[in-house]
Amino acid sequence: QEDVFKKIVSHCKEYGFVFPSSELYDGLGAVYDYGQNGVELKNNIKQYWWQSMVQLHDNIVGLDSAIFMHPTIWKASGHVDAFNDPLIDNRDSKKRYRADVLIEDQIAKYDEKIEKEVAKARKRFGDNFDEAKYRETSERVLEHQAKRDALEERYKEAMNGTDLQALKQIILDEEIVDPISGTRNWTDVRQFNLMFKTSMGSTADGSSDIYLRPETAQGIFVNYLNVQKTGRMKIPFGIAQIGKAFRNEIVARQFIFRMREFEQMEMQFFVKPGTEIDWFKNWKEMRMKWHQALGFGAENYRFHDHEKLAFYANAATDIEFKMPFGFKEVEGIHSRTNYDLTQHEKFSGKSIKYFDPETKESYTPYVIETSIGVDRMYLSVMCHAYQEEQLENGETRTVLKLPAALAPVKLAVLPLIKKDGLPEKAREIMNDLKFHFNCKYEEKDTIGKRYRRQDAIGTPYCITIDHETLTDNCVTLRDRDTMKQERVPISELRSLIEDKVTI
Ligand code: ATP
Repeated sequence: QEDVFKKIVSHCKEYGFVFPSSELYDGLGAVYDYGQNGVELKNNIKQYWWQSMVQLHDNIVGLDSAIFMHPTIWKASGHVDAFNDPLIDNRDSKKRYRADVLIEDQIAKYDEKIEKEVAKARKRFGDNFDEAKYRETSERVLEHQAKRDALEERYKEAMNGTDLQALKQIILDEEIVDPISGTRNWTDVRQFNLMFKTSMGSTADGSSDIYLRPETAQGIFVNYLNVQKTGRMKIPFGIAQIGKAFRNEIVARQFIFRMREFEQMEMQFFVKPGTEIDWFKNWKEMRMKWHQALGFGAENYRFHDHEKLAFYANAATDIEFKMPFGFKEVEGIHSRTNYDLTQHEKFSGKSIKYFDPETKESYTPYVIETSIGVDRMYLSVMCHAYQEEQLENGETRTVLKLPAALAPVKLAVLPLIKKDGLPEKAREIMNDLKFHFNCKYEEKDTIGKRYRRQDAIGTPYCITIDHETLTDNCVTLRDRDTMKQERVPISELRSLIEDKVTI
């Protein structure tokens, strides 16, 4: 599985999906750039989300708030004092690690041990192997499982209370080794603020410290009354926003899974106090359906309900997706009560209550948040789409089985050869279709090679223009997944393809 992941990372680079940032200067940790195909896929993911939120719900509207915000906002939200990650500070090597990441790795090691035992047994018993029974009865498997579960339990408890000493003790007890120095000497556990700080204005004028936003949500909270009043919104209503967020994550890992500059798609849904749990359940279901509508298989998703909650929340769950390195959070759904709005009232000294025109009452709304990382969503799409297929003729092909609506290029236009008027005819077809969906013209290399290149970037359809096209006005349409080819009149191409690739 880890090997597959490495292949996906190098595929992303080779085919213009994701490049390490500043690669020319040896890169910048946990920061990435999206290439010519990557930006298309990313835009399509954002559009897919935006349409399902803003276009399909008449009580949800959009917003684009600034990244820079008044510094007091981060005091009110609790990010200045509490947006911390527990760190292990190893003074010898001057390297710092996130305690949670190290412990998660340790849990994964127990999982690996279990899988190894199972794989060995599978080999030994061959066809007669009853895997489920083996997992339930093998002493070795049960021993690893018990250790794993105990560790996870301790870890959850320590993380929920952010109990740094408890985390340190786990690291000592598990004999987790410092990956740099190779020792077990952990010195100190400290808190580290994850927000990036910069200053606004020149020092002479008395500049002020400001932060790059670590989440897009606060921009929605401080604007909710503006939007409500000018948009004449009635509760319940939602505000959706897509935008960059920045976190000084300590350990860069797993490619675009944990980045320092990333993008979020968040929606804050404002409801009447007392109705929030019903709305939470509603959104939980709706968001799972949205993910599953992509057709990646329900078995690849699961909820992770939080047992212990942040002090201001009264319900929370994650939607996890099965990545090659295990089930991981892609989206969080939180019932945040009226905490944020009340805090902003307190810190700004202004009333931001909602006036209910029917009951003539004023109140501070409760909030349900759905928050999804664009980049994590992107990674899940890539991981699911990447496939190496064994063909009948013995060859293998690498193909990205992206949902057609998300594919960077919808149609590749390929003249069979570079002469006899075929390129001109191909251009003519493309000039018509490019107004309706993203097309790519390619004339270099053999048709076989060109098909493979399009497979590798996930293009759902290719058309080939040959000599007959000039007389019968038909082209050969090739389907990425089935690799079947059929003859289709040029006049039918648009409706045929548009139907399948529109979000
Ligand atoms: P994690 O526990 O993985 O750090 P989180 O619980 O802190 O994530 P939230 O604050 O709930 O995450 O953010 C909502 C979503 O934003 C996450 O579900 C994830 O998809 C995305 N996200 C958060 N941090 C990052 C990051 N460093 N890089 C990429 N995406 C991120």
